[in-house]
Amino acid sequence: MLDQMAVEVPPRSNLSRALTLARKWLVSCTVSHATCMDNSKPDWYPTRLLEIEPRKLTPMLIETKACQLSGGYACLSHCWGSLPITRLLRDNYDSFRKGIDPALLPKTFRDAIEFCKELGLRYLWIDSLCIIQDSLDDWREESNMMCQVYRNSTLCLSAAGAADASKGLYFDRKIEGNYPFPQCPAFLSDRCKRDTQNSSYRDWYLVPGDFYTNLCAKTYTFDRAWIFQERFLATRVLHFGRREIFWECCTANYCETFPEGVPQDVIGRTDILPKATYERIRTSSYTQAIIHPRIFDISSRPVAEQMQMTWEALITEYTRCDLSNLGDKLIALSGMAQSVWLDWRSKLSGDVQYLAGVWNIHLPHALLWACTRCGPRPAAYIAPTWSWASTDGQIDFQLHHWKHAYEFTSTILDVRISYVKSCWGQVKDGHIWVKGPIRKINWLVRKEYWIYATHDEEHPLLTEDTPSKYGIEIVPDEDYDVCTQGWGELHALLVMRFLDPGVQSQCVLVLNPVNDQCNTFHRVGIMSQMSGVQVADWFDGVAQQAIKII
Ligand SMILES: [Zn+2]
Repeated sequence: MLDQMAVEVPPRSNLSRALTLARKWLVSCTVSHATCMDNSKPDWYPTRLLEIEPRKLTPMLIETKACQLSGGYACLSHCWGSLPITRLLRDNYDSFRKGIDPALLPKTFRDAIEFCKELGLRYLWIDSLCIIQDSLDDWREESNMMCQVYRNSTLCLSAAGAADASKGLYFDRKIEGNYPFPQCPAFLSDRCKRDTQNSSYRDWYLVPGDFYTNLCAKTYTFDRAWIFQERFLATRVLHFGRREIFWECCTANYCETFPEGVPQDVIGRTDILPKATYERIRTSSYTQAIIHPRIFDISSRPVAEQMQMTWEALITEYTRCDLSNLGDKLIALSGMAQSVWLDWRSKLSGDVQYLAGVWNIHLPHALLWACTRCGPRPAAYIAPTWSWASTDGQIDFQLHHWKHAYEFTSTILDVRISYVKSCWGQVKDGHIWVKGPIRKINWLVRKEYWIYATHDEEHPLLTEDTPSKYGIEIVPDEDYDVCTQGWGELHALLVMRFLDPGVQSQCVLVLNPVNDQCNTFHRVGIMSQMSGVQVADWFDGVAQQAIKII
């Protein structure tokens, strides 16, 4: 229930409406958002850009090092789709340097060029036209710079409503649901008065709780893993959605319904991590209690923990996205990883290393993730099994750990990773040596898909009839019926212990021995504390042992 003005959305979006909104929001952002102004470097340019001359719609490919450039550039975030797309190739490079015939370009690119021209942005970066698509060397070189390309752009245009590049930036709106929002006369209860000065009997707007989630979810860009980092790296993103044109920057969210700012109560209800919320985590200025379900007050935490919470919020969001080629899992995240490293390295003492999606300074805590809605483990090698990146599913971290005192029971002895090219990209091989209390466990699949483990001395004969209170659920790292077929005699490793034994949490890794390799294991799951069984007690008196997890 809101007292804020909500504006009716017109039945079709077009260039002139988009320009009016973009100018208004860009002025607010560049004049009054201190965080946004700090973020981009105006003197950094990508290797190549499209130059858009003021009176022409024929863009020209330029090499920025050889040119005197002035003013910022925009970048385009879009889904390639399955249609053939105009691409920069070795064969057409020279001709693109002289000018690119607009008739060759898909509608989304033409719309983006026209929008930049009218907004007064002279340069535009589009991946397929600024990276040589038939040169693996150029692709590797340039894709390694995604972090800077998006971070330093003035504005990122997100073709959010376009399934492929032929659909453009403007759409007929299928007005669904509650436009305009209904109004309702009411008195406010005391509990509702906190955000408003005026609590007298009057009309209030009724806004659906999923309003902002729907705005984001009904797009083609919010759930694509390749586009994920573009949204977080860019300082400002203008989303050309099918329902509305909307804006995210490091400070605010605007949309056509709420052009003066989407109310925090509406933002706070979304399942999607908004850019501005992420920015407040990243800059440790998130001092409120839980607003976003995955975020806590982190400002009072040590710096390494702040970085860990930031990273975990990102990975939870990233693993929600679709990735057609699972082998790209670490590559599509590489710009984001570099950005986080740039942000945090100066705040931390010691060596900060990125290890297959995990940061060395967060170990062993960073081993305690759980995979939800997981499929079979990817056939191609992506990462060692102790990294979340080795799985195909959404990753959950143990956020409530931060609320309780704990001690680690395992220590990391060594981590080795070998990379295909750089530490930010694909991994060839890797292992971790960890020392901690490890013991064998019994397990069985109960009622078709619940997997239970027991402490083998106390309940050696685990059967379907054993009461579930004697068992602890195993959350597997891949689809349960696939993974359990390959399991043998499982082992459990206690990574940490809570000082308050009443805390329920996941802090025991489930490991499957690797045949013919002494003391070597694959991680296959994590134990979920439930039904009052104190899993940490299983490890009383158990000797510490050094093992290798690959
Ligand atoms: Zn801003």
